[in-house]
Amino acid sequence: MKSGLLILAIGILMFACKWDAQKYNSPKMIVCTTTIVGDIVKNIVGNRYEIKTLMGAGVDPHIYEAKPSDVRAMGEANVIILSGLHLEGKMSDLFLRLKDEKNIISFSDGMNVTKLIRLNAHSFDPHVWFDVDLWGKGMLHCKNSLQKIYPKDAVFFEKNYQKMKLKFQLLKQEITKKINTIPRSKRVLVTSHDAFHYFGKAYGIDVKALQGVSTVTEPGLRNVSNLVDFLVEKKIPAVFIESSVSSKSIKAVLEACLKRGHQLKIGGTLYSDALGGSGSNANTYLKMIRQNVQTFTNSMN
Ligand SMILES: [Zn+2]
Repeated sequence: MKSGLLILAIGILMFACKWDAQKYNSPKMIVCTTTIVGDIVKNIVGNRYEIKTLMGAGVDPHIYEAKPSDVRAMGEANVIILSGLHLEGKMSDLFLRLKDEKNIISFSDGMNVTKLIRLNAHSFDPHVWFDVDLWGKGMLHCKNSLQKIYPKDAVFFEKNYQKMKLKFQLLKQEITKKINTIPRSKRVLVTSHDAFHYFGKAYGIDVKALQGVSTVTEPGLRNVSNLVDFLVEKKIPAVFIESSVSSKSIKAVLEACLKRGHQLKIGGTLYSDALGGSGSNANTYLKMIRQNVQTFTNSMN
C-alpha cells in the first residue's frame, strides 16, 4: 500500500515537471529581435512555428531595452534569433545569460568577417541587412541552424530558403539598375545616423551621416558644420530622414545650408533599422529595401 502511494506521488511529480517544462519551453516558439530578422525567419519557417518579434515597426534597436514581457517570451521560446554585431546592444547581457539554455542564432555569424565594415579594434558596423548579399549569408546561416534544431522540417526550410534566395538575387539586380540611373556625382546619401555604409559599399554610393553608427550619442557641432560644407560645395540636392531616428538634427542642417544659399530638400524618409508598419509599403525586408531605393533615386535624379 505504501509503495503504491509512493509510485502515485512520483507519477504526479513527474507529470507536474513535464507540464512545467512544456509551459516554459515551447518547442515551436521562436523569438526574433527586430522586424527585419522576424520577416526573414517567417519566410523560412512559414506557419509551422510561432514567431514573436520583440521590437515593433519603427523601433530603434540601438537603445531598445527588453521589457518584462520580452524576458518572459525568451524564457518560453526554444530559439532566439538576433541580427547581431551588438545591434541589440542593451540586450547583450540577456543573450549571454540565456546562451546555455536556449538555441541562440545570430544572422551576423553567417557572414565572413572580411566583408564586414570595421568600426574599431573590437566592433563592426551592425547594419548588415543593407547589403543584400551579406544579409543572404545571414539568412543561409539562420536556415542551416534551424535545420539542425528542427531536422523534421529541414526539407521544408530548404524549399522556403531557395525561394527567398532567388528573390534576393532579383532584388540585387533591381537595385543596381535603379542606382545606375543616378549620375555618378550625385550618388551621395546623407542621413541622420550612419546606417547605410553597407548599402553604399555594395552599390557604389558615398554615404555621410550626422550621428555615428549607433544612435546612442547625439551629433556634435563639428559634424554638422562639416556636413554643411560638403553639401554646399557638392551642390547635393537632398538629404534623408530615417524612420527610427529623430529628424531634429537633419533639419538644423537644412537651415544652415539655406543660410549659405544652398536650397537643400528632404528627399523623404528612409527605413533604417526597422520595417514599416503593417499597412505601409515597407512591411517586409524586400519591400523596405525597394522603397528606400525608390525614395533615393527619385530625389537624386
Ligand atoms: Zn542603426
